[in-house]
Amino acid sequence: MTDTALLAVLIAAVAGLLAGRAWAATRRRAELRTRPGFRSSPHYTEGLHGLATGQLEAAIRELNKVLREHPDAVEVQQVLSHLYREVGQVERAIEIHRSLLGRADLTRAERAYALASLGTDYRKAGLLDRAARSYGEALSVDPKNVHALVGQQKLHEDQRQWREAYDAQTRLARLRKSDDGLVLGHLLLEMGKEALLAGRREAAEEAFRTALSLERRVFPAYLALAELWAERDPRRAAAILEDAIAAVPERAYLAFSPLEKAYAASGEPSRFVALCERLVAQNPRDWRARLAFARYLRADGRAGEALGLLLRALEANPHVLIVHLEVWRTLRALDVLGPEEQRYVATVEESALYVDPHICTVCRYRADDMLWRCPHCHEWNTLVEERVGPAAGGQPW
Ligand SMILES: [Zn+2]
Repeated sequence: MTDTALLAVLIAAVAGLLAGRAWAATRRRAELRTRPGFRSSPHYTEGLHGLATGQLEAAIRELNKVLREHPDAVEVQQVLSHLYREVGQVERAIEIHRSLLGRADLTRAERAYALASLGTDYRKAGLLDRAARSYGEALSVDPKNVHALVGQQKLHEDQRQWREAYDAQTRLARLRKSDDGLVLGHLLLEMGKEALLAGRREAAEEAFRTALSLERRVFPAYLALAELWAERDPRRAAAILEDAIAAVPERAYLAFSPLEKAYAASGEPSRFVALCERLVAQNPRDWRARLAFARYLRADGRAGEALGLLLRALEANPHVLIVHLEVWRTLRALDVLGPEEQRYVATVEESALYVDPHICTVCRYRADDMLWRCPHCHEWNTLVEERVGPAAGGQPW
């Protein structure tokens, strides 16, 4: 439902853009040649209505009627092919783009746009070589075609060609004058990971550091850097992880486990307690800090204290199943459960209940874990913890 609404808004935006271009282009062409006034067709209005309300099939039907009346309406063909692609009929989209490209009267921008769109059709259809070729052709017609550059960048990402993706993103950032540090940082991180796999430790470290110098919120770059130093110099690893928490406090929980190990390895396990206490005091709703602290206490034989902490975490976050699970485990550690209850806890522990729900803020894709690149919309750093239930003070999604 929400996905459809989002899609509709997106398509409406594309349509708006194209309509704007159409208007300007129509005016420009009025002197050159006469193109039929498709915009006066009632089916065009109906088609736009379908777009705006997310009724894509209806929009397709109406725009096809417009095309029967005005077979030359380039803009309608562009929108229609987008729609076909969105509803999964990529072959139809390809067909339209190919016939468009066969025309001799396209402007340079129109040709580049059609080529770029064809590239995206091919990418959706999994024909990556053809996609790359179409994007390349689009850029040779118009080197500043953002649509083709974006497509090319995504194509490189899909194929894990991080260096090429990085170069394309750099060009895009320059062209759009946008700050793409976060994406560039993630791409550098991937390049660093590959260097590490190839045994080039120094190149990896360099890449991780450059990622953070571009954008200090690339949290997994700290994790990767700390892992590099974990064995050789745990104190240094701990310092890197502390920087991570300072830079992105809302992701602190992802550093808990390596940080606990780093403190222990450097002979200062009590610093983990101090960190948890500090985070708990800073944010009373931070159940993850409480959870990490409680686990630490329970492992330290202080299950009673752990239980108190968990029960307080539940007051503010009664919907978080992981905290409930931890309460049960702690009760078991306190030896207050009879055999029946023990069996019950064991059963729930094995079930798949304990998801840690995350949601993509762009496309609302859901995942049971923290992912740095959304597998659905392929955007970077867009997943956040999903809030459900009666979390006091929080905004339920
Ligand atoms: Zn997404």
